Amino acid sequence: MIKYNPYLFKIEQENSFATLNKKVNEYKLNNPTKKIISLGIGDVSRPIPRPIIEEMHKAVEELSDINTFKGYGYYYGHDFLRQAILDNEYGVFNFTKDEIYISNGTKTDSTSILELFDVNAKILITNPTYPVYLNGTYALSREVSFLPIKEEDNFLPQIPTKKYDIIYLCSPNNPIGIAYTKEYLEKWIEYAINNNSIILYDNVYHDYITSPDVPKSIYELPNSKKTSIEFRSFSKSSSFTGVRCSYYIIPNDIDKDINHIWKLRTLNRFNGTDYIAQKGALASYDKESKEIINYNIKYYLDNAKSLKDTFLKYNFKVWGGIDSPFIWVKNPSLLTSWETFSFFLNELNIIVTPGIIFGSEADAYFRISSLGTKEDISIAIKRISDYYEKEI
Ligand code: PLP
Repeated sequence: MIKYNPYLFKIEQENSFATLNKKVNEYKLNNPTKKIISLGIGDVSRPIPRPIIEEMHKAVEELSDINTFKGYGYYYGHDFLRQAILDNEYGVFNFTKDEIYISNGTKTDSTSILELFDVNAKILITNPTYPVYLNGTYALSREVSFLPIKEEDNFLPQIPTKKYDIIYLCSPNNPIGIAYTKEYLEKWIEYAINNNSIILYDNVYHDYITSPDVPKSIYELPNSKKTSIEFRSFSKSSSFTGVRCSYYIIPNDIDKDINHIWKLRTLNRFNGTDYIAQKGALASYDKESKEIINYNIKYYLDNAKSLKDTFLKYNFKVWGGIDSPFIWVKNPSLLTSWETFSFFLNELNIIVTPGIIFGSEADAYFRISSLGTKEDISIAIKRISDYYEKEI
């Protein structure tokens, strides 16, 4: 008998995106003529900006030339991209290229970073959470503690009274769609300093931040360089969900050996990110690309506003959607989140994500994503409005 990693059996299967997809596919099979609109999954709908595509074409050509071919050896990322990230995003915080790593997705990075720490480190994850932190941590055979996030606290994770070594924070938050202010984050930095903890700060939606009191990076906060590792990605800005390119910062200020140790690990565990993807990512910083990216983000945030206004109009309680493409909605009456999901699927042919997928504390809520096309969002809004106009 093979002995499997027992932690893999802790991965939630029933309340998962796999179950959601199964239910949707069953519905589609039984109702082949129905047009289903997905406000469920957090994938982008806008294509990759043209200037980025052009750079990727050029990169493909470079790989065919003996003088410009690139192979192994760029374990922490190509210098050109690390330099551009420094120049455009992290230079203001006095980081060096050595503290920047290029990778192939924050999905992987957010938990593979745990290889840096003791296996017995006490890890704290919010409930609800982006499920990958939890399941990815289980895949690495680690124990997890949970920090409930509650409506009465405005969905802000409350500072723990006990010591934890590693804390996952996500801002702008998936699934809740709110973003943390400077004033609030200061409390976490203070906790981390006092407890010698590391904050793993998932900041993949930083380009969506519009509120002036929300920092775009955790490093805007004093002392954060001693406590925090920040993760960003090109997925939700440059539409790289299929291309794959991410980056993260490990500050030397955490410990003088930290980057030496992590480089030893990475050299042996990672062969680098796709050259073509990195060239495309580099082009994200060009003026023309930036304009398209900003247009796309505004497009999604406009979608979010229309969706949020619609739910508010019909007396739902709603959070998020201002600094994030996600909106968190309270279920109608006393329905569970799977019942709410079934209601939206059966009655309105709209897919929403049941809160329970993000954690046991979230069964009274569902998440909607504004990353779809304007056309689809309009259809969804019309269906919701038609239904609730009749109800009122
Ligand atoms: N982190 C959060 C909070 C996300 O919502 C997502 C994707 O939905 C990711 C990370 C994954 O990012 P990437 O595409 O870089 O793997």
